[in-house]
Amino acid sequence: MRGSVDTLPACDMEVSESVPARVNILVVDDLKEKLLVYSTVLEDLGQNVLFASSGEEALKLVLSNDFAVILLDVNMPNMDGIETAALIRKRRKSAHTPIIFLTAFADDVHVEKGYASGAVDYLITPVMPEILKAKVRVFIELSQMRQRAALQAEESARRKAAEESARRKDAFLGMLAHELRNPLGPIRNAIHLLHKIGPDTPDTVRLRAIIDRQVTHMARLVDDLLDSTRLANGKILLRKEQCDLSQIVCRTIEDYRHIFEERGISLEASLPQKPVWVDGDPTRLIQMLGNLLHNAHKFTPPDGRVSVSLISNEKDQTAIIKVEDTGIGIDSQTLPRIFDVFYQVEQKLDRSRGGLGLGLSLVKSLAELHNGVVTVTSAGTGQGAAFSLQLPTTPLAVSSDIAASAEKPSQSRILIIEDNLDAAETTRMLLEQEGHDTCIAYTGPQGIVLARQFQPHVILCDIGLPGMDGYQVARAMRLDPVLHSAFIIALTGYGRDEDRRQAQEAGFNMHLTKPLDTRMFRRVLASSYKG
Ligand code: ADP
Repeated sequence: MRGSVDTLPACDMEVSESVPARVNILVVDDLKEKLLVYSTVLEDLGQNVLFASSGEEALKLVLSNDFAVILLDVNMPNMDGIETAALIRKRRKSAHTPIIFLTAFADDVHVEKGYASGAVDYLITPVMPEILKAKVRVFIELSQMRQRAALQAEESARRKAAEESARRKDAFLGMLAHELRNPLGPIRNAIHLLHKIGPDTPDTVRLRAIIDRQVTHMARLVDDLLDSTRLANGKILLRKEQCDLSQIVCRTIEDYRHIFEERGISLEASLPQKPVWVDGDPTRLIQMLGNLLHNAHKFTPPDGRVSVSLISNEKDQTAIIKVEDTGIGIDSQTLPRIFDVFYQVEQKLDRSRGGLGLGLSLVKSLAELHNGVVTVTSAGTGQGAAFSLQLPTTPLAVSSDIAASAEKPSQSRILIIEDNLDAAETTRMLLEQEGHDTCIAYTGPQGIVLARQFQPHVILCDIGLPGMDGYQVARAMRLDPVLHSAFIIALTGYGRDEDRRQAQEAGFNMHLTKPLDTRMFRRVLASSYKG
């Protein structure tokens, strides 16, 4: 009941629940004229002041509000201040609310009873306005400090929970990618080996191509999903080195050429004669151009044209890779949003073009990590699109492993350490088909023993091995006088940056993700002979 004070001037009568800066103050007195005085004095403090004209009324307000301080008249009819204070203290919610007694007679007995019932201070009435304000201000500040501390604690708990959930999501996606990648390895190997079983018919060739395409597609989706969460968490670290962008562009185009040929899209390239040096992560540079080529292929109908050019501008030390297509084009409203995460122009219900809407956002983030920028232009729907990736160049030309990678390596001895029988067997068959001499170990310790006897050029080692894992195997080999300089490659479903870093720390020369890409493996093999 606040009827007795409804007409009091100026003080804010509403209880603010959410604004931390304003606190509630309760004044309890049975005399209306006194409440008016307190109202006028406390108005200056800029807080919410509530009034009660009896102990019962005060208890009701205490039940529904938190107060920074309660000013309580001792001398009231029915329930007096001492009794009211004792009841306020009994309620859990208000057990620690500071209470200041207002009394005209501060005799010792009175004071003692007051403190016993929970008062923190006494004020003799009539009160001096400045003293009243000063005492109340102390409790306001205390309450505001508590509110701030509670808010900070809440915020920190929220942040911790968000970090924990991001960490779990990351761990889950890493695990998911691993679990999804693992079966892709044997599937891909098996497709390449199928034709050995019997003579190829047009049907088997076609079916093999379908499975191969779908496996590639699946591996790509898994990688994109993983990369985008890692980029969002700032966890992608570039492995930068001096690399020749024209080699990278040339090689990536060749890797993609067959998918364009299959759809009857012409793919043209215009590259400079001289090397274009950039300080970049070759894997990520290939990934960026690969995503642009993948889209150009996806959004250009058969008989269309896609051209890729690389132009180096020596004056402002930049290089621009341009991917132009004659495909479905992009309308002007869509253009500004095209690099947003998960953005896709609405597809028909069949979702025949698929995708997760991550490819371009990955290109954008990776370009930024390279201090570069990606832009797009299109004259509109049906008018084709042109994507430009601009990167800073470096004048430095250093010898690169990339040059070596074009060479086809000769026959090599390769040891496969893999506990998954299907994966081990199909990898062996694939490598033997490439002309290599192979040997399989199904556990880490067996791998070490076999490596000593077999003296392989290259050891392909899985990470998730039972008992002794791949990292332990690599460490043991680096300590072994016979094997310490072996070329060891981690072939694993774990493809996160941490996994690569851990592999490097354990002594692996290289980290490849499953499924094994034979073209990539040839390059790696060639560089292993150089290094
Ligand atoms: P998605 O995996 O869905 O293709 P992207 O991020 O690579 O995701 O592309 C986002 C969207 O941008 C696509 O869904 C498509 O609508 C549009 N887009 C990308 N590249 C092209 C292109 N070359 N021509 C027309 N539209 C394109």
